[in-house]
Amino acid sequence: MPFTEPAMRPPQEARSLLLRATQGCSYNKCYFCYVSRGYPFMAVTPEQLERDVITRGALFPADTAIYLTGSNPFALPAKTLLNYLQVLRRHVPQFRRVSMQSRIGDIAGKSIEELRELCRMGLRHLYIGTENGDDGVLRRMNKGHTAAEAVEQLLRLDEAGITYTTFYILGMGGKGMGHVSGEATARMFNQVHPQLITTTGMTVFAHTPLAEMAERGTFIEASEREKIEELQTFLRELTIDVFYDGVHYLNPLNYRFANRDETAKRRVLEDIDDVLRSCSDEELEKMVSRHLKNSL
Ligand code: SF4
Repeated sequence: MPFTEPAMRPPQEARSLLLRATQGCSYNKCYFCYVSRGYPFMAVTPEQLERDVITRGALFPADTAIYLTGSNPFALPAKTLLNYLQVLRRHVPQFRRVSMQSRIGDIAGKSIEELRELCRMGLRHLYIGTENGDDGVLRRMNKGHTAAEAVEQLLRLDEAGITYTTFYILGMGGKGMGHVSGEATARMFNQVHPQLITTTGMTVFAHTPLAEMAERGTFIEASEREKIEELQTFLRELTIDVFYDGVHYLNPLNYRFANRDETAKRRVLEDIDDVLRSCSDEELEKMVSRHLKNSL
């Protein structure tokens, strides 16, 4: 069966050598997700990866970063991933690092020795959809992990030396859950060591279980004001040394700053206060292009 899913990458991997590892998601059950629906989970063989890296590797610098595409290639057994890394080392011996996306459960399926070996072979960074720190919200969206499990697995990555970026979806709990979500998510991240936290705003995409929930009235979207208040709560409670990147077309407000930079953080919190005070609900609803959701 041919691979048909378009390859995607995080913005941070814009300059990396992109090579396909998988298509689809091995889990594919999050109610809000539109990304991999309709694509069966499939992985390339080491031979396919080898052909790809031979064809395109020469176009990149010798010390390029490599990003293996797919919703969660880290679901593959450690042995398969080690085979991939050997192929990459053979053809791009000086690559800087390899990174890919992972679910929390994909980390749990690997021993600490396997994680260390993967890191030693060059897999240095994972992008992880932690999404929210409140168990009720995670359960309601069928995310498949709890906040405690996220903390446990991220600490195992710390132990193995693999760095990570975590994703957080503002408004994932729907109307009335912003404050609880902001506090719970900061509490979760304060226990671990992400290099980067990125956010997007919860959007009800067509043809998802969440769209059916919204139609039935069992999920009511948070307003843009509530999403901004959730971000405000989250940033106030976040204490770790981490870079925050909220520049995304589905975020009502776009900020980027180092959390340890107290001046930058104070300015961001003042700006959020100002926006909440000076803009009407209607103006806030217009600040984000959430209407694009059904044209994707
Ligand atoms: S784990 Fe990620 S890609 Fe898979 S269904 Fe959930 S949100 Fe979608």
